[in-house]
Amino acid sequence: MIDLRSDTLTQPTRAMVAAIANAAVGDEQKREDPTINELERRGAEFLGQEEAVFLPTATMANQIALNILGTPGDALLVERHAHIMLSELGGPAAHSGLLTIGLPGTHGRFSPDQVVSEIRDRTSVHVAPTRIVAVENTHNSSGGRAWPLEEIDAIVATCREHDLRAHLDGARLVNAATATGVDAARIGRGFDTVTLCFSKGLGCPLGALIAGSAQLMARARRGKHYFGGAMRQAGIVAAAALYALDHHVDRIGDDHVRARRLAAGLAAAGLGVDLDQVETNFVQIDVGPDRGGAIERMKKSGVLVSTTVHPTVVRAVTHLDISDDDIDAAIEAIPTALVATRTEVPLER
Ligand SMILES: *Cc1c(COP(=O)(O)O)cnc(C)c1O
Repeated sequence: MIDLRSDTLTQPTRAMVAAIANAAVGDEQKREDPTINELERRGAEFLGQEEAVFLPTATMANQIALNILGTPGDALLVERHAHIMLSELGGPAAHSGLLTIGLPGTHGRFSPDQVVSEIRDRTSVHVAPTRIVAVENTHNSSGGRAWPLEEIDAIVATCREHDLRAHLDGARLVNAATATGVDAARIGRGFDTVTLCFSKGLGCPLGALIAGSAQLMARARRGKHYFGGAMRQAGIVAAAALYALDHHVDRIGDDHVRARRLAAGLAAAGLGVDLDQVETNFVQIDVGPDRGGAIERMKKSGVLVSTTVHPTVVRAVTHLDISDDDIDAAIEAIPTALVATRTEVPLER
């Protein structure tokens, strides 16, 4: 089976398992786990921030970030299809009492003008004051699209100018950095808080970081306990993350090349793939109204894909466990599996 559902599906490599097996560990809650301490030091540097805190998931990283950046009753601006909006169970409201306002995006991006037009009157006794802006890069539901650096800088500058806190959901920041040729640290440095996920393209079994100033990270460490994310000998997981920083960052470009080749192959076979949208490791395929049937037929042909927020679109994601041969096979198998739906239209002409 060629499993293109998500880059979360990777198995740890043998070398990563060896790094896990050899990890020096201690009680991370007492800051005595040397592997965690090393990962937090390197992670902060990698994300262009002063300090970082290791967490089990990027969802927790986002929720802690929003919790420390806002107070109950504040408003949070996100793109309306962002992970924070669609896939975190209303966490900003449940955990932190935030009113989330969804901005319509273009490829997951929004403009400084859109932010400014949502700034509410902070002196009013009626209006929830806008306090936090969250950017998602790469943007998952738009097909793994990356923000150009100028647009990131413009949003951050707008936040500074208007006394807004800026959060970067960089679950796939390494993909964004690779696609734009800009260091993750350069992208991350202007934000108050940054999330990075280790269990996506970086290929770890679990783990994430939140990064920010020392002052904010002191609060994030409290948040980590508060949300139940403080662990003990978690260095076994941090060892995988350190391994990934050393060995899986530079190879992310391979996933992008494979996604691009898959997209080109499928487009050449006449499928609904927009090549301009393929910037990172996602390929979005418009399979028409019978998406469930299309997914089933692809599965019977040995290829797994997943759904997206767009009702006719499926997603194929490349990752560490997808080889060039898998891409060749998928380029053969997917159009054949979808041929039933494809031939309907031409026959009537
Ligand atoms: C996957 C993802 C997350 C959450 O990551 P987990 O580690 O699975 O909790 C957050 N933001 C974005 C954009 C994601 O794609």
